[in-house]
Amino acid sequence: MRIPIIAGNWKMHKAISEARTLASEIVQKVGDVREVQVVLCPPFTALYAVAETIKGSSVELGGQNCHYESKGAYTGEVAPEFLTDMGCRYVIIGHSERRQYFKEDDQLLNRKLKKAMAVGLIPIFCIGETLEERKKEQTFDVLRKQVTNGLPGIQADDPSLFVVAYEPVWAIGTGLTATPDQAQEAHRYVRDLLAGLWGTDAAETVRIQYGGSVKPDNAAELMGQPDIDGALVGGASLEADSFAKIVKHK
Ligand code: PEP
Repeated sequence: MRIPIIAGNWKMHKAISEARTLASEIVQKVGDVREVQVVLCPPFTALYAVAETIKGSSVELGGQNCHYESKGAYTGEVAPEFLTDMGCRYVIIGHSERRQYFKEDDQLLNRKLKKAMAVGLIPIFCIGETLEERKKEQTFDVLRKQVTNGLPGIQADDPSLFVVAYEPVWAIGTGLTATPDQAQEAHRYVRDLLAGLWGTDAAETVRIQYGGSVKPDNAAELMGQPDIDGALVGGASLEADSFAKIVKHK
């Protein structure tokens, strides 16, 4: 049984006091939910404040990115150990904004995934095609490349500790959403790719989130698909009410 996971990616929003307020409202609304794993991914600067705020609740903490080394001369970077030190259990790796604006490629992401897992973080590994790629019917090719180039050398010894987020880039922050059928088709394809790498049992255990303009009014239909195990939520996670409605979509 895969426990759905719904993560809020706050991106570059929420200074410390705002983050405390939002986290505290979310804890009030969904802090005792156990049938869904709820994860908050605030900016690095607010991690500590959010860690303090969610303490004692079922809500967990995640980083939005990390480096692939433990320490060193990497100005501006954050080691995965610093995230665990803050109380993070999760880290987003390879968000399309990191791939697009910061030129993170599959090889770099592979190093990050390995390091994050080595220090005990659960990666939320993001993949997805652009609009142009979808129009050219390259969606499956893109997903195959991202999975096969991103995962060499990674063994999912415990596949429940690895999360994939399928996020069609054209649906992120645009208000456009993949139809439930489009999303299900992509999720099934990704699960089959994972079965080829790790075997069927592992692939059936890995959770695959959908991301891309998930809102309270489309959450139930998307997450009702057999291979969609939760959501990675951007915009709608910045407001406690909408995020809580997505968490309690059933
Ligand atoms: C995201 O940031 O991963 C995302 C899916 O954003 P939004 O929900 O705003 O489309």
